[in-house]
Amino acid sequence: MRVLIVEDDKDLNRQLAEAFSEAGYAVDKALDGEEGHFLGDTETYDAIILDIGLPQMDGITVLENWRREGRTAPVLILTARDRWNDKVAGIDAGADDYVSKPFHIEEVLARVRALIRRAAGHAASELQCGPVLLDTRTSKVTVDGNPVKLTSHELRLLSYLMHHQDKVISRTELTEHLYDQDFDRDSNTIEVFVGRLRKKIGTDIIETVRGLGYRLTSPGSTESHDGKETA
Ligand code: CA
Repeated sequence: MRVLIVEDDKDLNRQLAEAFSEAGYAVDKALDGEEGHFLGDTETYDAIILDIGLPQMDGITVLENWRREGRTAPVLILTARDRWNDKVAGIDAGADDYVSKPFHIEEVLARVRALIRRAAGHAASELQCGPVLLDTRTSKVTVDGNPVKLTSHELRLLSYLMHHQDKVISRTELTEHLYDQDFDRDSNTIEVFVGRLRKKIGTDIIETVRGLGYRLTSPGSTESHDGKETA
């Protein structure tokens, strides 16, 4: 999962970026509206945290432009507490949720988790696929109740697949959602991460769809092929 943080307050931007990185997200940052707009327009994000009061281009304009250009990523706006009209303008411009300043970072994290879940059609914060359970609140993964320790890239990969179960996900799509802008993508290919993840979770829920990508299906589900029973 990958997020963009557009916030001109450097300290706040850094705090948010650190919190999201620690929670396992790939994070891109922008300190003004123009740069934020550019990134949101050219890169792919699972959610965007957008301040309203920004230099170069204000947050409402940034958001209106994204929506006009067909960018559909969930957007959480950050507003000043006494500016109720910013919330209304932001939601009308296409925001999905808001948090008023000052806020607790935990609240921003929780709201973004919910936005990502709902965008993928999930209401509950625990995602399950066969014996594999991902608690999106804590980023903890268990297989048959046993905890599995994953690196942040493995976690992002599993989380993305679990949010989009039963769909074929291309390598390109995974690449867009796993790495931040500055990451050296060539030396860390998706195939390597998938291989490691399969080994760690020890169950064959990640199916390779030849020439197309990967699909997460729970063993024994109606989606699985040729009626083969898997243990
Ligand atoms: Ca600001």
